[in-house]
Amino acid sequence: MEFDYIIVGAGSAGCVLAERLSAKGQKVLVLEAGGSDARFWIKLPLGYGYTFNDPKVNWRYTAEPDAGLNNRAAYWPRGRVIGGSSSINAMAYVRGLPHDFSDWEKAGAKGWNWGTVRQTYEKMESTSEKGSDGKMRIRGNGPVRVSDLRKNMHPFSERFLDVARDLGWDVLDNMNGTSFEGISYYRSTVRNGMRYSAADAFLRPAMKRSGVKVVRGALVEKVEIENNKATGVWYRLGDKRIFAAAKGEVILSAGAVNSPQVLQLSGVGPAALLKQHGIEVKADLSQVGQGLQDHLAITHHYTANEPTLNNRLGKLFGRMTAGLEYALRRSGPLGVPVNQVGGFVRSDASRNAPDMQIYCNPASYGMTADGKPDMGPIPGFILSAQPCRPTSRGQINIVSGDPMDAPKIEPNSLSTEKDIDDVLRASRLVQAMAGTPTVKRVMKAVKAPDISQMNDAELIENFRARASTVFHPTCTCRMGESAANSVLDDRLRVHGIGGLRVVDASAFPNLTSGNTNAPTLMLAMRAADLILADAANG
Ligand SMILES: Cc1cc2nc3c(=O)[nH]c(=O)nc-3n(C[C@H](O)[C@H](O)[C@H](O)COP(=O)(O)OP(=O)(O)OC[C@H]3O[C@@H](n4cnc5c(N)ncnc54)[C@H](O)[C@@H]3O)c2cc1C
Repeated sequence: MEFDYIIVGAGSAGCVLAERLSAKGQKVLVLEAGGSDARFWIKLPLGYGYTFNDPKVNWRYTAEPDAGLNNRAAYWPRGRVIGGSSSINAMAYVRGLPHDFSDWEKAGAKGWNWGTVRQTYEKMESTSEKGSDGKMRIRGNGPVRVSDLRKNMHPFSERFLDVARDLGWDVLDNMNGTSFEGISYYRSTVRNGMRYSAADAFLRPAMKRSGVKVVRGALVEKVEIENNKATGVWYRLGDKRIFAAAKGEVILSAGAVNSPQVLQLSGVGPAALLKQHGIEVKADLSQVGQGLQDHLAITHHYTANEPTLNNRLGKLFGRMTAGLEYALRRSGPLGVPVNQVGGFVRSDASRNAPDMQIYCNPASYGMTADGKPDMGPIPGFILSAQPCRPTSRGQINIVSGDPMDAPKIEPNSLSTEKDIDDVLRASRLVQAMAGTPTVKRVMKAVKAPDISQMNDAELIENFRARASTVFHPTCTCRMGESAANSVLDDRLRVHGIGGLRVVDASAFPNLTSGNTNAPTLMLAMRAADLILADAANG
């Protein structure tokens, strides 16, 4: 079969493209390095903890020691499986804030303002919500199911809404609704008690069409570029190297770590870096791999004097009854993600827009030494805050010309004054939440370290020593005005190379304020319209 489009990566964006392009009769080849997503721990929402470290479904990257985080080398999970990171993520569905997209447009991504992206979100989603009669119904008929799971969330999560009220924050019905500022139950990409990944929403329906071929275990090594045009890709399948030709375009949807890697291996990137690794320069594009942005969060744990998820899932008997409840009715704690309540707030009233995202979980847990989730029986809970819009930018670069070598990830965290100021603001918010009458009532003790009395310097040091990535790398092949300051134009075409686009989280000009799966799906939905329009215009 000859293919109009070759899509590299069956992750959040790749799955959307496969469906949207094939729906219009285009023949599509999808090459995915990982394997099948038909796995129990992927489908079960609370299985998140088990896929987090599983080499069968996860690239398991490690970033370089990061000076801003006391030289800690962070663990970076990324999905290596059908569905990509949407098959291993925490399922929170968050559109982002309007000014995130105004900033995309200001950076040169014309047409990606809130007005247009909101229309795309609305076309893409079907959202469960409570009607005025109190009954749940579905609004919209898009492929992405966004579920309101509050019925199955732990009763302790109600306390977090009380914390918000104590602090004068609005309690919202839906953080993706008409109002963005305030706290609510998180909405999730879960359907009928199971994870509903991009593969479920898009790829599986697309695979019913004869013009769609998906190859698993296919590691794309490079894009073939002749006379400044992409003609196809080389990929490795077992011990074979195979060339696949594209009649139309090659689209990289390998994610924010691997799309810049594949571009650089193909000779598109900073010339000095490519030459250093013996790669022929096809286009000297200095920004490939640059501009990396990610979210960091600071999380604190408390023991509770009321039951939380720990009381049930921290004990064998509780896990067994939860398993039974799930098996019989697809309900109970195994069918909902552990991030249950949160939203966007201002760290102080003088801010122009919400600048912090909050996460509150009705459980306290960690990881065992061998990377398995570890939830003990003592009731506990978590309060966490994440600065929304960091300004630090890092980079991702190849370390050799060998596609099997993991690229070097340099987050460059907390390298701006603004980001250090945000660290303090986030930490003060956790202090404020922990100091509310509600938390004082339900908290038994603070698990170390206790930040309640820390001064600014101690809070910054605590953040550097303990903050973690929220797994939202973006911007490494960002859209922008020109080849001098970006990799892609506003239609996601690689500057200077025909027939080649990047469509995934690496294309964001700036990180959005919240979790990045929904904006990535949206970006791919809109990209498909642009690709089809360009094809129609010859
Ligand atoms: C642990 C974790 C938790 C997260 N939690 C949330 C959350 O709760 N809510 C949220 O909104 N976001 C969350 N995210 C982030 C979100 O899932 C990602 O931003 C989003 O899935 C990125 O989509 P993508 O298409 O850019 O890349 P991905 O979905 O990662 O897809 C890239 C695909 O390309 C494949 N690939 C890579 N290189 C090659 C190659 N050379 N050849 C062939 N295939 C290749 C990969 O295997 C992968 O399948 C989380 C991410 C992680 C890792």
